[in-house]
Amino acid sequence: MDKLSYTSEGRTSAWSTYLQQIDRVTSYLGNLSRWIDTLRHPKRTLIVDIPLQMDNGTIRHFEGYRVQHNLSRGPGKGGIRYHPRVDLNEVMALSAWMTIKCAAVNLPYGGAKGGIRVDPFKLSEGELERLTRRYTSEIGIIIGPQKDIPAPDVGTNSKVMAWIMDTYSMNLGNTVTGVVTGKPIHLGGSLGREKATGRGVFITGCEVASRENINIKNARIAIQGFGNVGSEVARLFETAGGKVVVIQDHTATLYNNKGINISELVKWQNKNKNILGFPEADPIDKEAFWETQMDILIPAALEGQITKERAEIISCKLVLEGANGPTYPDADDVLATRGITVVPDVICNAGGVTVSYFEWVQDMASFFWSEDEINKRSDKIMIDAMSHVWKKSKEKKCSLRTAAYIVACERILMARKDRGIYPG
Ligand code: GLU
Repeated sequence: MDKLSYTSEGRTSAWSTYLQQIDRVTSYLGNLSRWIDTLRHPKRTLIVDIPLQMDNGTIRHFEGYRVQHNLSRGPGKGGIRYHPRVDLNEVMALSAWMTIKCAAVNLPYGGAKGGIRVDPFKLSEGELERLTRRYTSEIGIIIGPQKDIPAPDVGTNSKVMAWIMDTYSMNLGNTVTGVVTGKPIHLGGSLGREKATGRGVFITGCEVASRENINIKNARIAIQGFGNVGSEVARLFETAGGKVVVIQDHTATLYNNKGINISELVKWQNKNKNILGFPEADPIDKEAFWETQMDILIPAALEGQITKERAEIISCKLVLEGANGPTYPDADDVLATRGITVVPDVICNAGGVTVSYFEWVQDMASFFWSEDEINKRSDKIMIDAMSHVWKKSKEKKCSLRTAAYIVACERILMARKDRGIYPG
């Protein structure tokens, strides 16, 4: 790999970030490192063409993907992203992070991810439905409740999951609720799923904050992204006495030294689709987000946000990665040198896939749990996983990211080794 492609000046691709993270863990894996190359190669990659008849009668073509990165520990699991910047490189990285994430919290899944290069906000509801249904038919040859189970990600939601479930079921001739998670509750969805990722970020954040003597009460919090994850994590920190002083989305950066009123901002966003123009905070420059005085930083948008340069100026004590892949490896090094703790994505945002797992189990059993039971079980999984990774990082004297990768890679490569290579 070209050294230059590792720098964070807009050149590092998501996949090369992932490869560097794998390079960093290899020396900790002993004899299992013999199998590490398995994680450098996605198992199965599907690129599909999606022709779409637009409302005005014209035909447009969109490119879609489904990548199954590793299936050693179980069926593939991972979301579907609709975003104008989706490409194969990104989907490969996102699928690999799912492999690591599922193993780090010990869910019986491999890792997968899908996506379409499209701006969903520029399509009508009918166009979005036709696009989703054709994409589902195209990837239908590799997904299934025992093969690979999609879920929501950036730009998709429970409505899109309902169309996926219906299309897959129509093609098969019977209703298969377990083919996808993140569905509406009345179609086999799980209580607690929508808020699960934000909740997990909060739970793991509190675990680490208490170990590092960081007081949540009055902590100054910065959040990038105010979607499904960012808004819930903001609400939970506000309830716990934290002050969310700055929030950024793709339309605006808002600052209020006294703390932004989250329920008012949620109301504003529901009405206006974004945070732009919210009257109870001051709009500030985009780059000033990173310079704000803060105790806890929560990137909850897209990958590749914390560059080396931004890592040098950030003032926080703790980074909670609500997004997948927000931090470049050279930025990780700067943060470590500056004594800033990073709770890595593969643990921090695993609450979503954990409740997806519960949804899948409930669909299989056709027996549904209460929200209280779901929250209790997912909190326990998150806290246990976090404690395990914390101990590993102390034992190996490494970052929480490397510790999470050690725990995950040992589980994946052990499975790989014991299954062996077919044919021998
Ligand atoms: N897209 C989410 C993630 O990145 C959830 C995946 C899932 O529930 O399968 O973890």
